[in-house]
Amino acid sequence: MFDFPGQLPEIRLHGKPPSETALNRMQACMLLLAQDAAWEQLPFGTLLQQRWRRRAPGNALLVTELPNARGTRLSVARVGELSTFALLELCRKLCALQPPDSGALHLVPLGFQGNALRRVAEALLAATLARSVHLPSYKKRAEPAPAPQVLHLYGLRERRLAARCLAEAAGNGLARALCTTPGNLLTPRIYLRHIRRLARRAGWKLEFLDMAALRRRGAGAFTAVAQGAPDSQSGIVHLHWEHGSGKARPRIALVGKGLCYDTGGVNLKSARHMFGMHEDMTGSAVALGVLHALTRLKAHASVDCWLALASNEIGPRSYKPNDVVKALNGSTIEIVDTDAEGRMVLADTLTLAARAKPQLMLDFATLTGACIHALGPAYSGAFTNRPVFLPELIAGGSECGERVWPFPMDKDYDTALQSQIADLRQCARDGSLPDHILAARFLRHFVPPEVPWIHLDLGSARHKGGLAHVPTSSTGFGVRLALHLLLDRRLIGLDRAGARRAQAP
Ligand SMILES: [Zn+2]
Repeated sequence: MFDFPGQLPEIRLHGKPPSETALNRMQACMLLLAQDAAWEQLPFGTLLQQRWRRRAPGNALLVTELPNARGTRLSVARVGELSTFALLELCRKLCALQPPDSGALHLVPLGFQGNALRRVAEALLAATLARSVHLPSYKKRAEPAPAPQVLHLYGLRERRLAARCLAEAAGNGLARALCTTPGNLLTPRIYLRHIRRLARRAGWKLEFLDMAALRRRGAGAFTAVAQGAPDSQSGIVHLHWEHGSGKARPRIALVGKGLCYDTGGVNLKSARHMFGMHEDMTGSAVALGVLHALTRLKAHASVDCWLALASNEIGPRSYKPNDVVKALNGSTIEIVDTDAEGRMVLADTLTLAARAKPQLMLDFATLTGACIHALGPAYSGAFTNRPVFLPELIAGGSECGERVWPFPMDKDYDTALQSQIADLRQCARDGSLPDHILAARFLRHFVPPEVPWIHLDLGSARHKGGLAHVPTSSTGFGVRLALHLLLDRRLIGLDRAGARRAQAP
C-alpha cells in the first residue's frame, strides 16, 4: 500500500544570511534578491553581481557555481513587484534548477523586510516542499525523488511559518498522491481503506454510509450514480475532528466529490475525454488534504468532512437519461445526462453535511468542463450563496496564489433546470448553456439558505507542467486556498457581520 503523503524534509531556521564559511559548505542554494538589494551583503556578492549582469539576455534566472571546494550550485532570481502567483511560479522554476539529489537545500531571501520577507520566505518554502513530495510511481526502476532531507531558511526565524508550510505541503501532497494513483488501484473500496488508515493515525472519527445505509435513508441521487458499478463499495464517508473548545471554535464542513472513475455512464465519454478520469476524485482528495493540514496544525476548529466515493460505470444497472430519482432532501430529479454525475452524488452529500448547520460549508469538485472553458486551467470557479464572500474569494485567491473567480448564481438561471415531470432537471439539454453555473444552481437546491456555502469548481485541478509552486500536472489546487480562507481571511461569521452592515442605515 502506498504511504500517503510520505516524508517531508525537516526545516531549519537561521536568523541571519549565511556567512562565507556557511556558503562554502553548501552544495545547493536558492537565492532570491529584492530588486534594490545590495549584492555586497552576501559573500561572493561582487562575483555574483558580475555573473548576473552577464547572464543570457532574456533569462530571468541565473544558475552558477561558486569558485569554492564544493562548487556550490546557486540558482538566483531578483524579485520586484510580483503577484503571489508569479512569485510562486518563479520559486518553482528556481527550484527546478537545483540538482535532484542534494541532501540539504539552502534558501536565502535577501534585501527584504517585514511582510515582504515573510512572503518571499513562504514562497521559497512552499515551492521546495511541493517538489519534495513523493508521488506514486509504478516503474520497475523508480526515478530518484527530488527530495532534500533538510531545508535551511536564512534571515527569518518564524517557527509558525515553517509549521504552516509543512502542514500545507502535507495536505497538498496527500491530495496529489491520491489523484496520481491509477483508478484500478484506487477504487472506492481501496480509497476507503486508505482513509481508515489516515483516520486512525490522525484521530478522526469515521462513519461510512454504504449503499444499503444510503438506500434506507433515501439518498436516491447518490445511489442512482453508484448503482451502475458491479460489486459497488461506494458510499459517503463522514470524518469528524475537533480541537480546542468554547463557542468561538468555528464549525466547518468540507465536502468533496470522489468519483474514483468517471466513464460518463450510459452517456459514455469519448476516448479523448475519458483519459485522466481517475482524477475525478480530486475534490475528495482536496477536502482530505485540508482536514489533514488543519489536524497537523491543531487548528482551533470543529471539522466535519464528507466524501462522496463512487464510480460512474456503464452496465445493466446504470441509471439512464429520463430516469427520475428522489434525492435525500425529498426533491425529485429528472436525469438528462449520466455524465453529470458529480452534482448527483454531491446533492445528497451536501444535504447530509448541511444537517449539522455548519458555520461554513466548503465543497470541492472537478465538476464541469464549462468552468475550464470559461476560465482556462489556471483558475478555478467559485460560487457562493453569500455575496459578502465574493470579494473575499477573489482577494484570498490572489493573496495565496491559488486563484479563483466567481460566477453569478441568479435565480433566473433555474429556468434551464425546469422539468415537466420532476422538481428539477439534473442539467440543461442545451449544451450551449453555462453548465458550471447551472451545476452550482442545481447544488444550491440541496443547501438550506441558512448555511453559508462556497462551491469550488476545480478547473485548475490539472495544469500541464504544474501551477504556481506545484511542479506536477496534478496540482492539488484548493488545499492552500482553503487554508488561507479559513485561517487567514477568517470567513466564518463574516456573512452575519456583512448582513448587519448591509442593514445599518
Ligand atoms: Zn461525469
